[in-house]
Amino acid sequence: MKDTYYKKSLIILLTLTLLGSCINPYFCRELEKVTDIPLIDNIQPEAKSEVLEPIPQDESDNSDDEQYKKKNETKEKEDKKKSLEEKLKTIKEESSRVKKEIEKTKKKKNSKLAKKKDLNTQVGNTKQEIVSLSQKITSLSQKISKKENEVSNKESEISVARDLLKSRIKFNYMTPELSKLEAVMNMGKYSDYLCRLEYQAKISDNDQKKLNELKETLTQIQQTKKEIEQNKYQIEITKEKVETKKKQLENELVDISNEVYSIEKEEAAWHKNAENLKKQMNALQAEIEKICRELASDTEYVGGDMIWPVPGCFSISSPFGPRSFDGFHYGVDISQRGIYGKNVVATNSGKIIFAGWRSLYGICVIIDHGGKRTSLYAHLSSTCVSLNQTVTKGQTIGLVGSTGNSTGPHLHFEIRENGKAKNPMIYFKKAKAQ
Ligand SMILES: [Zn+2]
Repeated sequence: MKDTYYKKSLIILLTLTLLGSCINPYFCRELEKVTDIPLIDNIQPEAKSEVLEPIPQDESDNSDDEQYKKKNETKEKEDKKKSLEEKLKTIKEESSRVKKEIEKTKKKKNSKLAKKKDLNTQVGNTKQEIVSLSQKITSLSQKISKKENEVSNKESEISVARDLLKSRIKFNYMTPELSKLEAVMNMGKYSDYLCRLEYQAKISDNDQKKLNELKETLTQIQQTKKEIEQNKYQIEITKEKVETKKKQLENELVDISNEVYSIEKEEAAWHKNAENLKKQMNALQAEIEKICRELASDTEYVGGDMIWPVPGCFSISSPFGPRSFDGFHYGVDISQRGIYGKNVVATNSGKIIFAGWRSLYGICVIIDHGGKRTSLYAHLSSTCVSLNQTVTKGQTIGLVGSTGNSTGPHLHFEIRENGKAKNPMIYFKKAKAQ
């Protein structure tokens, strides 16, 4: 009886529960076990979910459509990549033309700068020459004024001497001549008179002689003065010539400075042009790489272990990770004595998605290994592979160098997954042990 009552109570409870909206299948199954009444048949949640699934369409048609769509997309991407590569090629050509122009302008500028330097030296020399000539002129002017003083002194002396001589002559002239009778009458006086005359004549002679000497000295002084003046005049002419030359050189200097200025402007314009082209190239390269990654995204990783990119050289001079001087190091630097020119090999098989110059990386190669994994080899001295080429694991792709932003020969080696840099060492536990 008790058992029947228990069963009936449970059935009532179940009915009430079923009337509600939530049914616990687990609870129902437990009830079934106890009651032997199949309760869950009407619920069938699994079957419900099957019904909700879309009605399967013709499978082969669907996959054909998708394949067709994918093929079209791939073709579109490949066409776009091709057109971008063409564009990149044109810009590269333009860039190399601009580089040549920069070189040409630089040469032109250097030649003008050399001329400017030479002109500066010449102007400096003429300035020195002018100073030296001015000093000479000053010294000669002093000499001339000294000579002028001498002339003036001599002229004074001459004037004095002349006056003296004049007065003596006057005195002689004024002295009355004794008549013969007087002379006979005063024989003594006459002899005195004669003596006096002789004496006076002698003095006059001396005066005259002295005067002549003075005049001669004066002539010599004047002659010397004249020579000095001529010398000064010559020097003044030379100075004038040097000044004219200096002015001419200074004019030339102004001209050449203007030329250098305009060449520098031209040079700056070329540099700006080159910078723009570089930006365009980088953008195109990035776009091409993106397409390459997208094209490669469907392919699977080539598989197998990666091998060390510089056989025999395992020394790491700068590991992957944060770096004090440039923020973050996205790869490892492999470097050791004598590494320059060593073979750099493909770490695994794949397709070359970049081979060439890439700003800071210098000569650089990027290999796509499928499965969105790429490896990058930078600062090479040269590369022997080209874009879209397929390479096999261990194949030489270039030589270790120091191109781009590099302080010495080394290989900067990166591995990226989905474009994100990974620590390459995690792939080379085996390589390290080699
Ligand atoms: Zn590096």
